[in-house]
Amino acid sequence: MRSTIFSMTSDRLNKMRNPPHFPPKKQRTILLVDDSEVDRAVYRRYLNKSADYDYHFIEAETGKTALEIYPNALPDLVLLDYFLPDIDGLEWIRRWQQKYNKNPCPVIILTGQGNENIAVKFIQLGAADYLVKDQITAERLNFSVQKELIRQEEKQKFTQIIQSQNEQLLEVNRLLNEQMNCGENSECSLSNNKKKLHCAVFNAPIPVLVHAEDGEIMHVNQTWTELSGYTIEDIPTTAEWTEKAYGRKQKTVKSFIDRLYELNQRVEEGEFKIRTAGGQFRIWNFSSAPLGRLLDGRRLVISCAKDVTEIKQAKIAAQQSEIQFRQTFEQAAVGMAHVAPNGQWLRVNQKLCAILGYNEKELLEKTFQEITYPDDLEPDLAYVRQVLSGEIESYSMEKRYIRKDNACIWMNLTVSLFRNQTEEPEYFICVIENIQKRKNLELSQAQALKRLSNLHQIDKAIIEAQTPQAIATIAINNIQDLSTCQRVSVVTFDSQRQTATTLVTQGIAEQTAQQGLETNLNLWQTLIERLQASEQSYVVSYLSQSPQLLSAMPEVAVSGLDCFICFGLKLQNKLLGILKLWVEDAQEISAEQLTMIEEISIQIAIALQQANLTQASRNYALELENKVRERTTQLEEINQELKAFTYSISHDLKAPLRAIQGFAIALQEDYADKLDELGQEYTSRLATSAEQMERLIQDLLAYSRLSRTEIYKKPVNLTSVVNKALEDLEIQITEVKAEITVDRPLLNVLGNRTILQQIVENLLSNALKFTSSKVKPQIHIRTEEYPENVVRLWIEDNGIGIEAQHQERIFEVFERLHGNETYPGTGIGLAIVKKGVERLGGRLGVESDVNLGSGFWVELPQIKE
Ligand code: ADP
Repeated sequence: MRSTIFSMTSDRLNKMRNPPHFPPKKQRTILLVDDSEVDRAVYRRYLNKSADYDYHFIEAETGKTALEIYPNALPDLVLLDYFLPDIDGLEWIRRWQQKYNKNPCPVIILTGQGNENIAVKFIQLGAADYLVKDQITAERLNFSVQKELIRQEEKQKFTQIIQSQNEQLLEVNRLLNEQMNCGENSECSLSNNKKKLHCAVFNAPIPVLVHAEDGEIMHVNQTWTELSGYTIEDIPTTAEWTEKAYGRKQKTVKSFIDRLYELNQRVEEGEFKIRTAGGQFRIWNFSSAPLGRLLDGRRLVISCAKDVTEIKQAKIAAQQSEIQFRQTFEQAAVGMAHVAPNGQWLRVNQKLCAILGYNEKELLEKTFQEITYPDDLEPDLAYVRQVLSGEIESYSMEKRYIRKDNACIWMNLTVSLFRNQTEEPEYFICVIENIQKRKNLELSQAQALKRLSNLHQIDKAIIEAQTPQAIATIAINNIQDLSTCQRVSVVTFDSQRQTATTLVTQGIAEQTAQQGLETNLNLWQTLIERLQASEQSYVVSYLSQSPQLLSAMPEVAVSGLDCFICFGLKLQNKLLGILKLWVEDAQEISAEQLTMIEEISIQIAIALQQANLTQASRNYALELENKVRERTTQLEEINQELKAFTYSISHDLKAPLRAIQGFAIALQEDYADKLDELGQEYTSRLATSAEQMERLIQDLLAYSRLSRTEIYKKPVNLTSVVNKALEDLEIQITEVKAEITVDRPLLNVLGNRTILQQIVENLLSNALKFTSSKVKPQIHIRTEEYPENVVRLWIEDNGIGIEAQHQERIFEVFERLHGNETYPGTGIGLAIVKKGVERLGGRLGVESDVNLGSGFWVELPQIKE
């Protein structure tokens, strides 16, 4: 005690004189087993922050490497990743323990995800701690690692103490034996004995106190002082010892000590909690023995103690760990159990009882075999055999149990075997998780998928516009897939023909229902009315109860079928037919199946409607095709007639005309002297009329030709077209003394030279013709470039002009604004221009003011060189 105070004082002095120095860090080796380099770097960084420890890291990426390097590395602690590339953490620990003796050093598990089941298994296997990677901080990791290292150090210290205590005890034993032998041996001197005894007591490795009957303490050995902190000076009497070491309990202990002097043999007093001079508590297990009398007659007692503080602490720690395990077991969110190798439940948690509906007592009386769903028993037992034989370490399976209320429940079972030290199977550790919800979900998902796929198949058939028979067959196949019905058929109604026709039938006696079997719609009337009145989309009927239906379905009369469910094939309130399902018992069809069949019946109705529409549109298209064919024949006939007509004009009409012209000229030339003035005028008029008629015929033929002949388009040089026109019309130009200007070169266009020649000549001759006698005719020919590669050819005059209201109609055949006497013509010129431009794919128009002149324009695509 004193020396401790002294040392503290000198420590303080030292600190004042010298700069503070920290105790050196403890060197420790850590084996890092993790395949993620990044994770390892993080752990190294975190651990290097430790103020107390200096870590040396040895790293391994796989479980196998870690197992191989372990004996050379001999780490103080292992940080182990749960998911290793080759084996998992559980397996690693098992192999490691097997290879290098049970739990050579603490192992801390690091895992990417928190999983209670795995945590429990690790703790059962002896792992020190279990850390979830996402939640690891530098503090958390250092705390966990240091806690384990300190525990390890304490354990080592404790082992050393026990070892040295044992050695020292052996020594005391040896000395005492020696002394006893000396007592018997007269050759040994008494003082020699005393010395030896004193020496033995003083050096004994256990606390020893020799005290006399009046309470005087005669000897306190070195170990006593070391462990309790009290020297003989501190506790000269047992009264002072009890006061210091026992506090409030001093009196009880003192009276206990006082009774020791009556002893005549060794007594085990048991454990006492003493307070050391330093204020800590230690647990000492006392035993005392009589040691004779002093010379003054006082009886002596020797009291020895065994310091069991560490053992006690270790026991408490073990108890706490057991409590922790129990709590984990009891409070786990999953069912947990220990099961004997024969299947008897040995220990079950509350959660498992709740899942299975038994109380703990009831469940412990059963075996797992008794409450396993029969179909799942054999696969489970097969696994059990494999685990027992050591073929596999553990297994996981999905299986069904039967609850107390007889309901069947799906569970996920994970099992591993606990073997005792002699490797005998002791019990199975089972983690049982209720997966009924997931199973339900899977089931309903599978059903929904099936449903969707059925509907999809029918949709596909509708889109592919298969026949109603084909679509109904697919639908029926799907229905038979979904439910257990004996026979299914689709019947369509035709309200116009008042018939019901069987489209498709499948199932019992299907051969009796010929496809297309027709019955009178009246026979179905009651059924139709019931369907229309029903709130549901179906009605259930019994053949035995409605004889009129038997006549509607003569084909089933012999088959022994009776109950059938009828779904209306309804679309926009129109009943197109029915879907009939023959079943043994209508109750057997679940509500869900009915919904699915209803969905399919809607699809069939759509298919029927679609088929009807398709048929109608096919009929319509056929009708149209026939009409077009008829019209084309008519047109061909007309065209033929027109051709014949043109032919007759050009040949038959021209011949008599030439005769008239010829004879008129003959009369004028040969009989001029014989005809009076009136006769000569008649002859002249005859010639003029014949000439006019010839022009008319020519123009009509030109117009008709333009409509019929095939046209080839090429680049056309407009300058040369205009030059030719000016040449052709030279006589007319000279006659009216017209002044013509051409903006040469004109732009080139895509067109047809012959047609363009005619267009330009017609427009130019009109410009020369429709002039006023008062104004000198001036004509301007030019081309203009328009956007999008278009050229406009203008022929502009200063003639009589055209009133706005006539500007459109002058382009039609025979539309003229003047009498033949004023301005002679046929009224076809501009119609030819229009037809020609149309056939070239161009546009035309006129801009005109009365008495000021007109500008005719033609638009065609430009050709650039
Ligand atoms: P035609 O010249 O044989 O009478 P067209 O079809 O060529 O027949 O012309 C139809 C009518 O358009 C003409 O009768 C005339 O009234 C009017 N017309 C045509 N070109 C001009 C023009 N350049 N100036 C004034 N009127 C015109």
